[in-house]
Amino acid sequence: MANPDFTAADLRRGETLFKGPCTFVKGVVDIDGLPRDGKPEIAFAGRSNVGKSSLINALAGRTSLARVSVTPGRTRELNFFTLGKDQVLYLVDMPGYGYAKASKAQVKGWTRLIRDYLRGRRELKRVYLLIDARHGLKDNDRDTMTLMDEAAISYQAVLTKADEPKAAELAKIIEQVSAELTKRPAAYPELIVTSARTGAGISELRAAVASLAPNAIVR
Ligand code: GDP
Repeated sequence: MANPDFTAADLRRGETLFKGPCTFVKGVVDIDGLPRDGKPEIAFAGRSNVGKSSLINALAGRTSLARVSVTPGRTRELNFFTLGKDQVLYLVDMPGYGYAKASKAQVKGWTRLIRDYLRGRRELKRVYLLIDARHGLKDNDRDTMTLMDEAAISYQAVLTKADEPKAAELAKIIEQVSAELTKRPAAYPELIVTSARTGAGISELRAAVASLAPNAIVR
């Protein structure tokens, strides 16, 4: 299933949340550097080059919030942004995984950071797992899903670059990804189909994020 139904009120809440400031707070390279103020967090994860920076920028309505990679795989940190008027929610941009040209030491470092973060973070309310609509799920996505299933971290798949495949191919990918998600204990059953290029699905993703934000911040 794709793009859950949102009411007009849900969509408005999403717009309001992302109309507020989205401010870079810190880049965390080591688990000890994680914020300790107890704010709820929602994180964006995915393979390197999946379109994560573009999607975060589209969500926030900015052109340069998250760096769009000239060289893929450059984000090595967990980048924390505060979201909304009263800044009581963190948006976390996770390092992209699966970058072919990274050294073994780099891969080990990122893998450990991602694992440590996903395994033991009470503040983490939802991970949006970005999947390239041209390629569908890859084994390193499945590894990340297994990690989140084991840690009981709730996650939802988001297809990116949905403007690229033809309609029939897109429908097939949606069906394949959905079929795998239903077998995953911690996965949200519906996926969200987006394109940072055309803006498709951006309002729905904003609404989905806003549904996890404490009431107080969306006014
Ligand atoms: P990241 O490495 O996951 O942060 O990915 P980027 O946001 O840097 O994007 C990787 C590449 O995909 C860039 O060449 C982008 O222009 C391209 N891209 C990102 N979003 C879209 C999209 O919605 N549609 C299409 N067609 N290309 C996209």
